[in-house]
Amino acid sequence: MIIILIIFAFVLIAFSLRFTWWLPTKKGLVALMYHNIEYTDGKDAFCISPKIFKNQLEIILNKGFTPVNFDEMAEAVLNGAPLPKKPIVITFDDGYLNNWTKAFPILKEKNIKANIFLTCDFIGVKEDYLTWQQVLEMQNSGLISFGSHSLTHRRLRDLTLEDAEREIKESKIMLEEKLNRPVYSFCYPYGAGAFDKRIRPLVLKAGYLFDFSTKKGINKLPLSKNKPILRAFPRGGETAFDFHLQLTRGRSKL
Ligand SMILES: [Zn+2]
Repeated sequence: MIIILIIFAFVLIAFSLRFTWWLPTKKGLVALMYHNIEYTDGKDAFCISPKIFKNQLEIILNKGFTPVNFDEMAEAVLNGAPLPKKPIVITFDDGYLNNWTKAFPILKEKNIKANIFLTCDFIGVKEDYLTWQQVLEMQNSGLISFGSHSLTHRRLRDLTLEDAEREIKESKIMLEEKLNRPVYSFCYPYGAGAFDKRIRPLVLKAGYLFDFSTKKGINKLPLSKNKPILRAFPRGGETAFDFHLQLTRGRSKL
């Protein structure tokens, strides 16, 4: 009997080690990566329900985080402007329509800043993506900033260098023209596995200050433009415990 209990306890401990509670907590800029905010059965990692999203925003505020946007990050790097005490940058990849229909009303209600990476050629063209009018309205609210997620959302690693450069450079030009303001941030389509050391210099050469990948972690302060921004990834179907670990360790599981 005792042996069974010991084995049971051992299995339980071994299972819990998958979660990162045993890692030390980290300080710095927390960056969160969202995609879709939509009603969901929790099975899609890239989709969070509006209710859970709202809960997560409440957790962020209750823990004393201050949401910042790309412009404030740029001010910090360019002019040494101080970031708030516990800064957090909330990001959405791709530019889905539900960022406007579901996420934006909640962000407005709570007066929380967030940032959206737009796939430029899809905006106002593809169903389920934002329109330029929605983008501008969100910008005018003063709460939402925008970054580039390339023109066509292809894996930059698989393109010729010329095509990759076009995706990086022309999306910045297009966004700056549409938004009438500088665009500082770029986010690699398909994340950390989809770019390599040929690609990153093109992003910096195009004039971006920050490149965001899917590599997990919390960013050391002061920010530098020499390192891609690490992000935590709250997934659909996860618990508040996962979210707590993401805010304090940059990831909830190994
Ligand atoms: Zn994407």
